[in-house]
Amino acid sequence: MGLTDLTITQAHQGLVKKEFSALELCKAYLDKIKERDREIFAFLTVVENLALSQAKEVDDLISAGEKIPILAGIPSAIKDVILIEGIRCTAGSKILENYVAPYDATVIKKLKGEKAVFLGKTNLDEFAMGASTEHSAFGPTRNPRDLTRVPGGSSGGSAAAVAAQECIYALGSDTGGSIRQPASFCGVVGLKPTYGAVSRYGLIAFASSLDQIGPITKNVEDCKIVFDAIKGKDEMDSTSIDLNSKFQNPNYKQIPNSKFQIRNLRLGVPKEYFVKGLDPGIEKLVKAAIKKYEEMGAKIEEVSLPHTEYALPAYYIINPSEASANLARYDGIKFGYSVAKPQTNTDTLLDVYLKSRGQGFGQEVRRRIMLGTYSLSAGYYEAYYLKAQKVRTLVKNDFEKVFKEVDAILGPVSPILPFKIGEKVGDPLSMYLVDVYTVAINLVGVPALSLPCGKVGQLPVGLQIIGKPFEEDIILEIGEKFEQTCQK
Ligand code: GLN
Repeated sequence: MGLTDLTITQAHQGLVKKEFSALELCKAYLDKIKERDREIFAFLTVVENLALSQAKEVDDLISAGEKIPILAGIPSAIKDVILIEGIRCTAGSKILENYVAPYDATVIKKLKGEKAVFLGKTNLDEFAMGASTEHSAFGPTRNPRDLTRVPGGSSGGSAAAVAAQECIYALGSDTGGSIRQPASFCGVVGLKPTYGAVSRYGLIAFASSLDQIGPITKNVEDCKIVFDAIKGKDEMDSTSIDLNSKFQNPNYKQIPNSKFQIRNLRLGVPKEYFVKGLDPGIEKLVKAAIKKYEEMGAKIEEVSLPHTEYALPAYYIINPSEASANLARYDGIKFGYSVAKPQTNTDTLLDVYLKSRGQGFGQEVRRRIMLGTYSLSAGYYEAYYLKAQKVRTLVKNDFEKVFKEVDAILGPVSPILPFKIGEKVGDPLSMYLVDVYTVAINLVGVPALSLPCGKVGQLPVGLQIIGKPFEEDIILEIGEKFEQTCQK
């Protein structure tokens, strides 16, 4: 097994047993990036010097005989909307092309505390708006499983980097599916944590009532390790909560691994998820996975989420509304791309705003700003934004009702297989439809895991396991059991 084949646990053991050094491990990944990333383009920025110096620090700890944390020396990649102090952070946009992060995001601070190694920043749809990574201002990422196809999005660079073994794990962000869908398209594991489970301080805001940061990994065990490292209350993000506090987390319970049994579980399968539009190959694999859980002894129950069809339209009102407000800060004055030229410029302040934004933002971002501004404007607010929020409540009620009957929900991640580069980029509505199974989870705020459950030809398919709020442990455990039966 080569160094780039290793999972986090395997690499950790190798480091501890001194089979290889952190520097050797880091160099193996930097070499892999040099070899493969020219065709995949998962990375926007590679921080070779930082990575090597972080790896060296870990080697020093090991030679000093110190016990190292599990993520120490493990090479990782970070989606380019998460700030690392002193490193460029573009959000995939021309408007932030030369923006250097002035501080560390909380997740980065936490990983630095674990002695993590950062290889670089990964490509994404501009400001995380999209499902294919084609909306990046710097060019598309390719799917390592088939270079003619998209890796999904918006965390396509992160998922592709893990799948191409250009890093051991990556961080992504998920506002409407951006961790789960690329994980599914690239055949890796992705977790969208519960809203509030992970601090968003230092995450470039997209739609603040929906955004969450989460891990993309090679397997479920690694996903648990990274989630444990990044989760938790942070005073810099007032929406974050302490998962280990019985007072803050109503669903807090410890599941001793030995007692966790699939046969004690009730798993719900929403009838609204298996309808026209779902690729038959995907349907077959997801149903086969559900069957496997049944064979393991789980009680499978058909459930109903009656407002499913309204989740996508509600999301595409709420998401652009919040995005239009969050993106108002890029004005060409405070920071980022600007057309303002001191001395020679005769533009008024408004001209500077309009031109900087017009030139700095790509088409999809401008589309969302227009849609969002429209739905929030006087006279339309009640008809669009308010109505969408009411629909959101109905969707949330559906899930709450179902979660009284079952422990978790199973279904597909994406209705279609990874599509060809260029196939949908000119057709926004068909791009939005790809999110049909993922956006409701963000509207409701619950956690969901995307797990490889087979392939159609060479194209990976993901199973989605949706949990109750703050029950990441349970969906990860459910996912791991499936992974284990597949390995048998
Ligand atoms: N594809 C969805 C959108 O474009 C989700 C994006 C995301 O989760 N960041 O909004």
